[in-house]
Amino acid sequence: AAKARGTGRLEVFDDEASHRSIDRLDLRSDLSEALDQGQLSVVYQPMVELKSNTIRSFEALARWRHPERGNVPPDVFIPLAEETGAIVPIGAWVLDQACRQLAMWQREFPEEHLTMSVNISAVQLERGHGELLDVIRAAGVDPTDVWLEVTEHMDTAEDISSQVSSLRDAGVHFALDDFGMSYSSLAYLQRFPVEGLKIDRSFVAAMPEAGNGGRGIVRAIMAVADSLSMKAFAEGIETQAQLDALLDLGCGYGQGHLLSPPLSVERSTAALRAQRDRA
Ligand code: C2E
Ligand code: MG
Ligand code: MG
Ligand code: MG
Repeated sequence: AAKARGTGRLEVFDDEASHRSIDRLDLRSDLSEALDQGQLSVVYQPMVELKSNTIRSFEALARWRHPERGNVPPDVFIPLAEETGAIVPIGAWVLDQACRQLAMWQREFPEEHLTMSVNISAVQLERGHGELLDVIRAAGVDPTDVWLEVTEHMDTAEDISSQVSSLRDAGVHFALDDFGMSYSSLAYLQRFPVEGLKIDRSFVAAMPEAGNGGRGIVRAIMAVADSLSMKAFAEGIETQAQLDALLDLGCGYGQGHLLSPPLSVERSTAALRAQRDRA
């Protein structure tokens, strides 16, 4: 496309755009079978207590290995699954896997008091009537050890509230993911109170820079969390300078490639064993 000039440019663009939409159509139909075909899996990214470098929790992240295309990133397939409704069975499956895995890790590592975070789409809360809580209970974990991460795209309409209140009543925690990325983050918080804020990685990335755009914003988010009695979690920590800045501000918990990328079950278990043996 770079060599396209003048009138040719529009044609090239149209061509690419139509390829992209055909792509999406293919992926949509393939996605409807991905779960039954065993193409989905879950990886786990540690959530680390920063000052002691200790794994306290994991975030479950869905993966799709397409038979021809290889790995399709969740930023591509989750929105498609939300459009088609496939997110309902897929999301319930991820929650089930994650909770069963948490139960196993809690049995092997009782002294770590681990919890689990799972990303939830608004569609799952709208369509359901208590299924999410059933999944959590059936997995044999204490609902108070489960965190559900929602985004600010989620509408807080009436129809989600019955499912949300049954989850809250059981002690399931909610966190707002990618916090600060919408134009109405604080208004959102007022409508949908949560117990945790995940500081979007774009703010963490800017921290070592001078000025308010750098650590000022992270400090402000932490002040919001503190004054509303919420926990703040930093996302996407990639450098030692970012980690140092977060420690300076007293940020308790974080995730990122510097600490650990998302891991397979086996590698997560190995990390927990190493942590226990270190203690
Ligand atoms: P998220 O929940 O904000 O998850 C964090 C994303 O950042 C993950 O991408 C993770 O792999 C990535 N990440 C972690 N540390 C770093 C870092 O240091 N640097 C950078 N650049 N990235 C880092 P992933 O796994 O590709 O997931 C993307 C998004 O897809 C997630 O963002 C979440 O919104 C969504 N997602 C993933 N799994 C599920 C799921 O089971 N259900 C739903 N509804 N959404 C999911
Ligand atoms: Mg998340
Ligand atoms: Mg996030
Ligand atoms: Mg994100």
